[in-house]
Amino acid sequence: MDKRKTAIITGITGQDGAFLSELLLDKGYHVMGIVRSLNSFNKKGLEYLGILDKVEIVECSLLDFTQISNLLKSTKPSEIYNLAAQSSVSVSFKQPIDTFHFNTISVINLLEAIKLIDPSIKFYQASSSEMFGDINQLPILEDSIFHPKSPYAISKASAHWLCVNYRESYGLFISCGILFNHESYLRSDSFFIKKVLSSARLISEGKMENLTVGNIDIKRDFGYAPKYVEAMYKMLQHHEARNFLVCSGQSVSLRDIIYYVFDRYNLSHELVVVDEKLIRPAEIPDIYGSPENTKSMLHWDYDFTINDLLDKLIEEEEQNK
Ligand code: NAP
Repeated sequence: MDKRKTAIITGITGQDGAFLSELLLDKGYHVMGIVRSLNSFNKKGLEYLGILDKVEIVECSLLDFTQISNLLKSTKPSEIYNLAAQSSVSVSFKQPIDTFHFNTISVINLLEAIKLIDPSIKFYQASSSEMFGDINQLPILEDSIFHPKSPYAISKASAHWLCVNYRESYGLFISCGILFNHESYLRSDSFFIKKVLSSARLISEGKMENLTVGNIDIKRDFGYAPKYVEAMYKMLQHHEARNFLVCSGQSVSLRDIIYYVFDRYNLSHELVVVDEKLIRPAEIPDIYGSPENTKSMLHWDYDFTINDLLDKLIEEEEQNK
């Protein structure tokens, strides 16, 4: 009989799911990844890390309570990392109902199943810095007030409060990682930094004319995804379940990121074209958090500057072209 601890990862086909799978395999876990369809799941991340054949892939609808309950009964996981979500702010403005429905119902289904089937299962919820939205005080701290500004952010805030409520009401071990933007080669092309990197490379190769952008004067706190998943794992090994901020502690404007990448590729800044269609109905002007409590409680180290991050991402982009 397999004596390894079993960890379930929802959203295993996403950026974080792939890096977290790699980390948990290194720690000796049996990793079980949930996908929507066994016939057509995205293998890119797991293949990129060379771990596709080391994880067990299971089909399960997170919108179906019975399927989740049966899965927990048959597999007896010790930890569940809930990363599945419609994760794009832009898409959430176009598909608000689907975004809100999936990002909340999937979470309450998982929480109810844990409560009823095995309350000893530890649960990680992928909460988001977008929940803070309209901000009157920086840096963001663990107790900063939420004022979410997109359907995505509202869905994540609702899911977050479900988690807090199940932790407080039933004593379940539920930790919420409130992560700020984090990037890697595995980020989908529709997200900002990945789009800038792949566009800059294609423009430099003569395969694209320019980079179209929305509002690039907003500022965000960006980090490196493989380091951020370490904090997720550490949260479930910590003696106490709670909320943790995972961030770099600095913000940078999207314009500065573009100019840094374009300078590295010797491209003119005039190739950056604003497209009004890419400007969102509501936007957070500036956000960054304080990682100090998380660093000291979890012994999590993170010391990448924004230039370190961009250099690393450019290197990965070049290696994989
Ligand atoms: P991602 O690359 O967009 O991956 C999202 C995952 O969710 C994919 O595996 C996707 O599966 C799954 N998913 C989406 N809609 C689904 C549905 N209706 N049914 C079942 N599965 C569905 O996201 P990520 O960057 O790894 O982020 C992981 C989590 O952290 C997400 O919850 C995200 O909202 C949150 N988060 C991310 C960041 C960040 O900067 N990356 C920051 C804060 C919070 P398919 O392959 O089937 O589409």
